[in-house]
Amino acid sequence: ESLINRIAAGEIIHRPASALKELLENCLDAGATSIRVTVKDGGLKLLQIQDNGCGIRRGDLPILAERFTTSKLSSFSDLSRITTYGFRGEALASISHVAHLSVVTKTKTESCAWKAHYLDGNLVAPKPGQTPDPKPCAGNDGTTIIIEDLFYNTPTRLSALRSASEEYSRILDVITKYAVHNPKVAFSCKKAGSPSPDLSTPSTSETAQAIRLLYGHSIAKDLLHTTLGSKKQDEDEDMEGDEMESRDDSQWTAEAHFTNANYQSKKMIFLLFINHRLVESSRMKRALEAVYSGVLPKGASPFIYLSLQINPRDVDVNVHPTKKEVHFLNEDGITDQIADGLQRQLASQSH
Ligand code: ADP
Ligand code: MG
Repeated sequence: ESLINRIAAGEIIHRPASALKELLENCLDAGATSIRVTVKDGGLKLLQIQDNGCGIRRGDLPILAERFTTSKLSSFSDLSRITTYGFRGEALASISHVAHLSVVTKTKTESCAWKAHYLDGNLVAPKPGQTPDPKPCAGNDGTTIIIEDLFYNTPTRLSALRSASEEYSRILDVITKYAVHNPKVAFSCKKAGSPSPDLSTPSTSETAQAIRLLYGHSIAKDLLHTTLGSKKQDEDEDMEGDEMESRDDSQWTAEAHFTNANYQSKKMIFLLFINHRLVESSRMKRALEAVYSGVLPKGASPFIYLSLQINPRDVDVNVHPTKKEVHFLNEDGITDQIADGLQRQLASQSH
């Protein structure tokens, strides 16, 4: 049974950066405004993430690393949010099958923090002879998740990874993207023992400032911005009642920051967030890259950051959120409209 769990966990947690993505989303779901990441050996020896979010109740700690925990947690009362928003309760469970997982957490109402250790979905004693119960300790409001010795029990997974420095750069890439998407949240990332962070963002910036800070001036100086969406007031006016309703069903909004015709880079940089989750869509990527084909010289590529919000019901829940490609209702139509929107902006800018 534990082998099966380990294999299943490997499907969700491919490498340190995929564990980190899950943990970052948890911090953001918890309302954190500060997220600090500490890494040793590319996240394989240690991946620690500290937030100042809502914390986890003492009573929820025993089941935290069980599969499909979300709906069992006393602090998670909004069931509709669970079923529509992609909460599955699989990340911490999976991690506990392929690493040593520890949690230090404190809610506002508790007078001290609690520390707990997990292995294979269960609470375990920190040392032989001790009980597995969470232990009181000092700590600030919020949660620190500590992952040690990732893939210690899955040597094939471990040997498939290239190098600590490669894994570290993937970690920085994930944090960078979430920092662009969450400019009001302060992020930092450092190697354990290092005096200064390799990445650090303030909590007060706007998206454009965050892009400048994280991707540099050469991108930031050539940025355009547009807001798009399915809802057009004037069109809605001539619509019949039921037509309105069917339109409501597939409503979406998108915000895009993208480089103009002056920016030229060899490699396309594409950040796609759907309902605040970092996802990939090769269809969307290709369609948006094509918009630039008549604008940029051959071989040159744009920077595009796109935040799309659609009804959570329209995202294909059969596609596992950690699978690379995401699919959603009316994908072709929405993709075309966004490509058109970018095209129009680029055209008006060049006049
Ligand atoms: P999911 O996010 O899909 O519910 P996870 O395994 O990622 O599943 O997390 C399980 C639960 O643990 C979350 O629903 C949340 O209630 C709680 N949790 C995890 N990380 C944090 C955190 N950093 N702050 C507060 N609660 C957390
Ligand atoms: Mg989660």
